Amino acid sequence: MALHLAYRWFCKLDLNDKVPHHSTFSVNRLGRFRESEILRHIFERVVATCMAAGLVKGEGFAVDASVMEANASRYHGKAPDELDWSDAQRQKLAVAEYLAGLEAEAQVQEGGDSRGSGSDGKPTAAPDRKSPKVISPSDPSSAWTAKANKRVQFGYGLNYLIDVEHAIIVDVEATPARTYDEVASTKTMIERTEQRLDLKPDWLAGDTAYGTGKLLAWLLGKNITPHIPVWERYSPPDGMFSRGDFTYDAERDLYVCPNGRPLRTSGTVHDSRVRNYLSQPGDCRACTLKQRCTRAPFKKIARDINEDARNHARSLKGTPEFERSSNARKKVEMRFAHLKVQHGFERMRLRGLTGARDEFHLAAIVQNLKTMALRLLGPPTKGTCAAIA
Ligand code: SF4
Repeated sequence: MALHLAYRWFCKLDLNDKVPHHSTFSVNRLGRFRESEILRHIFERVVATCMAAGLVKGEGFAVDASVMEANASRYHGKAPDELDWSDAQRQKLAVAEYLAGLEAEAQVQEGGDSRGSGSDGKPTAAPDRKSPKVISPSDPSSAWTAKANKRVQFGYGLNYLIDVEHAIIVDVEATPARTYDEVASTKTMIERTEQRLDLKPDWLAGDTAYGTGKLLAWLLGKNITPHIPVWERYSPPDGMFSRGDFTYDAERDLYVCPNGRPLRTSGTVHDSRVRNYLSQPGDCRACTLKQRCTRAPFKKIARDINEDARNHARSLKGTPEFERSSNARKKVEMRFAHLKVQHGFERMRLRGLTGARDEFHLAAIVQNLKTMALRLLGPPTKGTCAAIA
C-alpha cells in the first residue's frame, strides 16, 4: 500500500507521508463508513449522474438475482439447534449482526419495539418463510443454497434492478441467497428508487421466480405492468385435467368442474397465500371422469388470494411488449456475467449482510461507471489502453 499511488491519492497522503496501519482502514470501514452509508451515497450519486447524462429512460426496469459464494466453509454448516455460540463467537461482527437481526425479528413478531435490529440498522419485518436447515457458524446470515445448478454452498443474493435502456443499475440489494428474500427485495428496490431518485418504471421484467401472486398484485397496485411469467406451483401429468378445465365463477365464488359439479371454499386462507376449493366426495364417486381428474376421494384446487393479478399477468404473456421485455431482461443477466467473468467476483471477501451490502454496492458503482464511460466517451482506443497499462 505504501507504494500504491491510487491509495495515497484517495487517502490524501503525500509521497513522503507515513501510511497508517492497515487496521485503521478496516476500523473506519466498519465504523465511520458503514454508519454514514457512504457507499450508498456514492452509488446514488453515480446513478444521478447517469440520469443527467440521459442514460436512464425510466420506462422499463428488469430485476434479477445472482448467487455469490459467502466467505464461509461449506463443510462446516450446522443445524440451527446444534449451534451454541460461545462468547468469543458472539463478539464477531457477522455473528453479532445475525443475532441482532434474530432478536429484532422476534420483537416484530411479538409486536414489541423493533428498534436497533438487523444488519442495516433498520427494523426487520416478520418473515413468513421457513427457517433455514443449515447455518454457517462463521457467517450465519448467508444462506445454504444449491441455486444456479452449483454445488451446495453458503451464499448471498446479489439483487440488481436495472433500467433496460443502457443497463444502468438503478438499485442494488444484498439478501441471503434465498428466492423468498430475493423476490421480497424487489419491493424494497422499486420503492427506494422512487423515493430517492424519483424513478418509477411503466413495466418490470423478471423471470418466473418473481411471478408470485403477492408481487404481481403489488406491482399492479403501483401501476407497474408486470412482464413476468406467472409462477405455477403444479402442472398435472399428461392426460389429467389441468387447472384451465375448471371454470371459476366469480359471482358465486366457486369452481365448476368438467362434470358440471361445484368446488366450494370455506374461505380459510392457508399459508397466507391460498384458499382451497373442494369438490363433494359423493359427486366424485359417481363421476365417469374421475380417472382424468383426481386419485383422491375429492378434487382440490388451491386458488391464490391474488389470482386476479396472476390472471392479468398471464394475459400479457405473448404480447409484443412482453416479448420485447423478455429480451431486454437478458441485459441484467449480462451484468452478472460481466461481473463474474471480467471482474472475477464470485466469492465474498467480507462477512455478514452488511459486508455483502458493501461489496455489492462497490460492484454496482464500478459497473455503472464503466457503462457511463463507454457510452459517453466511447470504447478505449489502443493508445489509451497502453497508457493506462
Ligand atoms: S371427479 Fe369430481 S371434481 Fe372431478 S370431474 Fe368428476 S365430479 Fe368433477
